[in-house]
Amino acid sequence: MKVLKFGGTSVGTVASLRNVKTIVEGLQEPAMVVVSALGGLTDKLITTAKNAAAGCADLDAELLAIRRRHIDIIDELVPEGDRDRVKDIVNPMLDELGGLFLGVSLINELPQRTLDRIVSFGERMSSVIVAAIIDGARHADSLEFIKTERWMDRNIAERSLTASLIKDNFSLPLENHVVTGGFISRDKESGVITNLGRGGSDYTAALIAAALDADSLEIWTDVDGFMTSDPRKVKEARVIPKMSFVESMELCSFGAKVIYPPTIYPVFHKNIPIRILNTHNPSAPGTLITDSGADLPQEVRGVSLMRDTAIVTVSGKLAANVAEINTRSYNAMTRAGMNVLLITKSECDGQFSLSLPAAEADKALEVLNSEFAPELGDGQVSGISKKSSLAIIAVVKEGIRKMEGLGARLYNTLLRKDMEVLGVSDGASDATVAVVVNDADADEALNLVHHTVIPPQ
Ligand code: ADP
Ligand code: ASP
Ligand code: MG
Repeated sequence: MKVLKFGGTSVGTVASLRNVKTIVEGLQEPAMVVVSALGGLTDKLITTAKNAAAGCADLDAELLAIRRRHIDIIDELVPEGDRDRVKDIVNPMLDELGGLFLGVSLINELPQRTLDRIVSFGERMSSVIVAAIIDGARHADSLEFIKTERWMDRNIAERSLTASLIKDNFSLPLENHVVTGGFISRDKESGVITNLGRGGSDYTAALIAAALDADSLEIWTDVDGFMTSDPRKVKEARVIPKMSFVESMELCSFGAKVIYPPTIYPVFHKNIPIRILNTHNPSAPGTLITDSGADLPQEVRGVSLMRDTAIVTVSGKLAANVAEINTRSYNAMTRAGMNVLLITKSECDGQFSLSLPAAEADKALEVLNSEFAPELGDGQVSGISKKSSLAIIAVVKEGIRKMEGLGARLYNTLLRKDMEVLGVSDGASDATVAVVVNDADADEALNLVHHTVIPPQ
């Protein structure tokens, strides 16, 4: 049994939905199908909700446009005899959405749980519609089986409860195709609607694939496969025919938007292959992701760019004690639920730097000031500072550490173009070498690094 996930780019228009229908109806056996909201709808719901809270939205016009988009697709693609039934499900959802927008505009506030409820309508509506478009498919409500719990200040998937609910809900072999909404979930205790984070439909599909021991997970999107870099930014980017789970995980966690990073782990754990395929070009071979890293060609797999990052630097004598400063900083940050992206070497001795998302830089300063309070007192640490507006460029291939001197090579390449390199992380993991540059240089540096490590064919 396969799990297929179609992103917003695949379910955005009548033409692309026709391709989805052809792809699923052409399968040899019933499959689980996970869909995102219609392309761009989640952004639209968020913007409208924020504008409603700020008192500057034309709510009637916005809701009408959202309603039209859904109803037009129903009229165009759902078989005539089933249209009224589908509209009877979708229209009340649109009415409730309208009520929520109005409520937000009246109280001039947008509590997180209200926003989560508002965005959930994207996948709730699209999944009902896609189920009605595909011959012989049935709809399943993912709010019934994708559960989250609170961790630090966020919602994360409660994986074991979710796995057992999925197993309870679906017995194999499936009798029909099942279509369900990605991204959306409920808190396991309160039942409040939550979600798995932006781009989270991929993760829903992976949780289902892992729970049901699927034969493969297919991510259908709008590019011919996982590419050596984002094709929107790097003209020389090309499709990677095969890659390992670890490589895909590294590329995604450093910004390759083609798969939502938490997606890989559950399927990696069960050794379920992932394929990345193009809904708009279904005959393209795509990318196969498996655990067979060792058999792959020796070349660099890809280069990712992560923007909007910061570096926090601890200066002073203690920085010379790399093992201690490393462990203590890393542990303090992890305890605070923070995500360290890289530990970088800087040019100056006596400095130890961590890269992290810019939004977390102030919190990191607080955490590290508290961790190193004794050393700040006795002078072992002379100061802790941050620098924002940075970007990380990550070069990925399993076993990259064996490519000696790659960090230095990248450093010199960028320097020759007068770009400042604020850090090099050589072997932060066995699969990644990364450089940190100013955000203003990000696109140019990405192209330069890509050209250096993946020469055009
Ligand atoms: P979906 O709606 O299918 O989930 P996304 O927009 O989330 O689609 O992901 C697909 C997009 O990811 C592509 O259009 C591409 O611009 C972008 N992308 C970024 N990095 C890569 C990469 N390394 N390979 C392929 N696509 C990438
Ligand atoms: N619709 C959600 C988003 O746009 C989830 C997804 O598309 O994966 O973030
Ligand atoms: Mg996506």
